Amino acid sequence: MDLGIEGRRALVCASSKGLGRACALSLAREGAQVIMLARGREALEAAADDIRRQTGAQVTAVVADITTEAGRTATLAACPDPDILVTNAGGPKPGDFREWSRDDWIAALDANMITPIELIRATIDTMIERRWGRIVNITSAAVKMPIDILGLSNGARSGLTGFVAGLARQVAAHNVTINNLLPGPFATDRLVQTAARAASDSGRSVQDIMAEREQRVPARRFGDPAEFGDACAFLCSAQAGYMTGQNLVLDGGMYPGTL
Ligand code: NAP
Repeated sequence: MDLGIEGRRALVCASSKGLGRACALSLAREGAQVIMLARGREALEAAADDIRRQTGAQVTAVVADITTEAGRTATLAACPDPDILVTNAGGPKPGDFREWSRDDWIAALDANMITPIELIRATIDTMIERRWGRIVNITSAAVKMPIDILGLSNGARSGLTGFVAGLARQVAAHNVTINNLLPGPFATDRLVQTAARAASDSGRSVQDIMAEREQRVPARRFGDPAEFGDACAFLCSAQAGYMTGQNLVLDGGMYPGTL
């Protein structure tokens, strides 16, 4: 299927590794011009080079911490008017809520709620003017099925989800869609980090924790980031124009509800 996004400008946040990188690659394969960003220059430039090599797409790399105002300003200077915006940032630290101070909560809200809202605020009006826009927020399956040690994520991402549920309906008439992609366990660095924390809390090995987690997934495997990237590219396609305000769970069947 031709997704109808050749030449569209796609700003993909937090994209030198993991799920963001996979989204950038899938969009580049479809002919989009991709603007990638991350804090670490080396991994970002390597990822951008690799995507250029694999796809021949025009790829711009911006070194920025997207959770800061300076980082967002630098990013938006490189791409002020994207047609496609994929919001993403690192997830909050795991732990027990008794350990978290007000500052921990503010940091989580900044990264996983306010940053995407600020990026949407800065870009949505030009999408509306052009009558074409696709916004995808990478959130977490924890929005539907909270994870005990990730309370900061459960809370902050639910705030974003509630906000965009309202906004999506306000902009749908302009052919601007806003959807959220909710990853379950995908094989990325982040998954290993959360397993390492669980291992140190329980005195078990990381391998043990990972094997047990994999067995809890009905698909009996972790997700491949490429599967996530392609789902994102579809949500950004011309064909997905009638799909908005949705929360799409990609979790190998872990969410146990009928709907
Ligand atoms: P990952 O493999 O650790 O990759 C994170 C990427 O984001 C890296 O490129 C990192 O580069 C970049 N990044 C992190 N903080 C940033 C910041 N402040 N500004 C700019 N770039 C930043 O993580 P992932 O697994 O792809 O996870 C992506 C998101 O999905 C996270 O919010 C995570 O919590 C969520 N999630 C993941 C899973 C999973 O199983 N993988 C499940 C549920 C939710 P730099 O460090 O160089 O900046």
